[in-house]
Amino acid sequence: MKDRVILHSDANCFYASCEMVLNPELRGKAVAVGGSQEERHGIILAKSELAKRAGVKTGMPLWEAKQRCKDLIIVPPHFEYYSKFSRLLRKIYERYTDYIEPFGLDECWLDVTSCGEDGYIIAEEIRKTVKEELGLTVSIGVSFNKVFAKLGSDLKKPDAVSVITRENFKDLVWPLPASDLLYCGRQTSRTLQECGISTIGRLASMSESFIRGKLGKNGHSLWLFANGLDNSRVAHKDHYEPPKSIGHGITCVENLENHDEASKVIVALSLDIGYKLRKEGMYAGGVSLVVKDEGFTHYSYQTRLEHSTQDEGEIAKVAIKLLSDNYNWRYQIRALTVTAIYLESSQAPTQSDMFYDYEKEEKQRRLGSVIDSIKDTYGKKAILPATVLDERKMPKGKQEDTVLPGMMHK
Ligand SMILES: [Mg+2]
Repeated sequence: MKDRVILHSDANCFYASCEMVLNPELRGKAVAVGGSQEERHGIILAKSELAKRAGVKTGMPLWEAKQRCKDLIIVPPHFEYYSKFSRLLRKIYERYTDYIEPFGLDECWLDVTSCGEDGYIIAEEIRKTVKEELGLTVSIGVSFNKVFAKLGSDLKKPDAVSVITRENFKDLVWPLPASDLLYCGRQTSRTLQECGISTIGRLASMSESFIRGKLGKNGHSLWLFANGLDNSRVAHKDHYEPPKSIGHGITCVENLENHDEASKVIVALSLDIGYKLRKEGMYAGGVSLVVKDEGFTHYSYQTRLEHSTQDEGEIAKVAIKLLSDNYNWRYQIRALTVTAIYLESSQAPTQSDMFYDYEKEEKQRRLGSVIDSIKDTYGKKAILPATVLDERKMPKGKQEDTVLPGMMHK
């Protein structure tokens, strides 16, 4: 059978590059996208190549980034523009194929086998077109499977094309660290390290049954990936897969010291989840809370809900209860992630229960939709529950005016 021709296109320094297209004066400067300067706790969300070279890292507090890079220009994020550029990139890819599978806002796989043209030539054409039409640069990997195409897009950047073939993959891919493989996360690569496996080549040379024994099903996939045997398909552009879970997490700049502080963060995280659930038309059947303490130990708690919900207040309440029921506060908290799990689509019949107040739920749901439309119009920060706002910054006598999405029946 003829080999497939698969491209993985990755927009370089995507957020920062979009900002430079919007404001050409930023070009050639050290630029970072970050929370607004007024917020003392703002962090770096993305950075330009120059800022990166000066030591600016994603997740770094703004003050520290400024210290590392004196002339750093920090701009607030414009997510609506980033998704616009993401759509424009896809429009260019659609000139070549209908098989386009996004991976985040700035990455896509393309299956261009049916073009009948050499993959490198198509990739070069796309690279030039993106630069000319959008003013962005992409790095593209070309290969016979998705995993190697993705690895290829990391080999040379920015603004470059790399080809990984059946002939050269042992030279190009095998010396790379195993953690470069798709779905080889921190825990997995640690387990591999413990077995003395640090490169993709070493992983490939092990017996399949040994790796499967160590890592289970995921180990089987990784072993196939390492040997160039990934045969997963690039999805059709119209393919839509409902999310299996919707989560939101944050690493706090300063540790959370008590239940009150952690609760506020949980409320803020849940807000976004309620919004996303309604956007997806999904209901949460359970909630999970992952806590990372100051010593980087992870704790994971979860529970099923009696009634599935889209209500951020309900999700926050359950997550806060998970925390108070399970976490012993021997250590301060560094990071929190709230996730809506066991998702069901809105159409699924909900179990009826005489003692459950459906009317209240319906009111909550309608309030939620109103809040979402305000957020769509005025931006996400337009409405925040009072608990998220720092009391000291609240103007006196204004507190009762604040809308409390989902926290009204507390
Ligand atoms: Mg990128």
